[in-house]
Amino acid sequence: MIKLTTAEAMQKAIDKARAVKPLVRVVCFGSYTVTNKQTGATYAVTCEKRDGERFADCNCKAGARGLRCYHIAAAAAAHIVLAAGRAAQST
Ligand SMILES: [Zn+2]
Repeated sequence: MIKLTTAEAMQKAIDKARAVKPLVRVVCFGSYTVTNKQTGATYAVTCEKRDGERFADCNCKAGARGLRCYHIAAAAAAHIVLAAGRAAQST
């Protein structure tokens, strides 16, 4: 599991995600697939909150080594939007 900290720490991954523009699909809340449209490679990313801190996991080589890959950046962006929508619904 990779701990998602500040946007600054994620910046390189966010920049890469912006450049690659991968396709993010929502499997269910907290579970996503991220596809590189150029290579067709698809990776599974999970996001979860534990004790108020956000964690993510990706099954690509970088993610397996505990690195913040752009798949996680792309999925986390979608996850934050979904989570905000859920929070708005529950109020
Ligand atoms: Zn990855």
